[in-house]
Amino acid sequence: MYTQSNNELQTILNTMKKAHLDTGPASAELRRDRLERCIKLLRDNHSALVQAINADFGHRSSYQSLVADLFATIQLLKHAAENVAIWMQPEHVADPVPGMKAWIEQQPLGVIGIISPWNFPINLAFGPLAGVFAAGNTAMLKPSELTPCTSELLAELVARYFHPHELTVVLGDALVGQAFSALAFDHLVFTGSTAVGKKVMRAAAENLVPVTLELGGKSPVMVDMDADIAQAAERTLTIKTFNAGQICLSPDYMLLPEDKTQGFIDAAKTFVAEHFPTIIGNPDYTAIINTHHYERLVGLLEEAKQHGATVISLAPDGEADYDAITRKIAPHLILHVSDDMGVMQEELFGPLLPIKTYQDSAQAIAYINSHPRPLAAYYFGVDKTNQAAFMAQTTSGALVINDVMTHVMIDSLPFGGVGASGIGAYHGVHGFRRFTHAKAVVVQSKDGASNLKLRAPYQEKLADLEAFLQG
Ligand code: NAD
Repeated sequence: MYTQSNNELQTILNTMKKAHLDTGPASAELRRDRLERCIKLLRDNHSALVQAINADFGHRSSYQSLVADLFATIQLLKHAAENVAIWMQPEHVADPVPGMKAWIEQQPLGVIGIISPWNFPINLAFGPLAGVFAAGNTAMLKPSELTPCTSELLAELVARYFHPHELTVVLGDALVGQAFSALAFDHLVFTGSTAVGKKVMRAAAENLVPVTLELGGKSPVMVDMDADIAQAAERTLTIKTFNAGQICLSPDYMLLPEDKTQGFIDAAKTFVAEHFPTIIGNPDYTAIINTHHYERLVGLLEEAKQHGATVISLAPDGEADYDAITRKIAPHLILHVSDDMGVMQEELFGPLLPIKTYQDSAQAIAYINSHPRPLAAYYFGVDKTNQAAFMAQTTSGALVINDVMTHVMIDSLPFGGVGASGIGAYHGVHGFRRFTHAKAVVVQSKDGASNLKLRAPYQEKLADLEAFLQG
């Protein structure tokens, strides 16, 4: 893999910044054209991209690549292309005083840096680009080194579909990421782990580069007393098995009423048996990205067992719970967990679901609130008052009621975290706004009345002001 030196990175950025200033703000046509070229790149090369992701994962379900990395990303880009002409209109405010005009000009920021992770290598690179291009910016993209086939293919395709002044891909590992995040971009979007997010924000602070941080964390599922348990099991496990749980929005752990435990286990077993009669050789079941993450997950399972957890494998009868050669891990439920176990401390990013039982819902809500604010919270239960109480009493990037992860597919909703799960949100108009400078513009009235008000001598102006202050 060819990796650019720090000097080369700096030169690319300087050249792009100059080009951005020289050409002026991109027209609606150019923005649409860039978005449509992204779509064309993805459509023309979708088979090669699916193959590249498959090669990087060892095995990645083609359906999952098509739906999450291609379809969902193209939808975001299309939504931006269809709406950009409206979004970029200046926003007029009421005339502040007679004869004076004031409005908000939607100004592109300039050159945006994008650092993306491996788990949805197309979606998390081109998803931010939908907002970045709609807002009239250009971008430098550093995809993950953990998906080398996909990242190299992206670099090659981007060079074919885009002028290097519009979009450039930089390849490399954490060291390149470090140099990349130290560049004086006009904005930096980072999608990845909380630990690296902190380093990125520190590096960006040196140049006062504003950041959007799309991080991870432990997203809880709370199942309330009146929930339909089979439904909660089916919907949670649909997403827990998608990409083998390697999703920032994956349900990380569950809070379950104590007396519903057996019902949930039975429903989870039935669901997995029906949808994954086999796992190791099943093309619909995705492998763990690499040996490091495979061993990390197996290690977490073993550690939980040693600390007294009850581990229930949902592997099909006669199949191993996990297989080092294919790097496939069957879904596992982990009961009797305690907070000192790794599974309750770190983001799992895999098909393991720890279950913490509770006796009253206030206890469950208090548990969520005693931990960092998650990227998403999921609530199962039918009572509207309890749904509203959960919504009001917990803070998360998003809340989905009676399902998991649904919000990410609704282009008009903001996608992002809060607190430890991230800063800023994108998707749809929210991405456009995130990567746009809302510039206040005022044209003074002919008589300049507001200016005259501030002009000395003040003595004769005091009476009016005092009358105002007295109400
Ligand atoms: P990661 O943080 O290890 O790496 C992400 C990117 O950062 C990669 O391109 C990597 O090369 C780069 N990088 C590594 N060290 C760097 C440094 N010091 N400075 C700058 N860049 C550096 O994350 P990952 O393992 O690729 O992805 C998994 C994590 O991402 C999980 O925590 C997951 O929750 C999170 N994630 C979040 C979202 C979201 O939208 N909120 C989406 C997907 C994944």
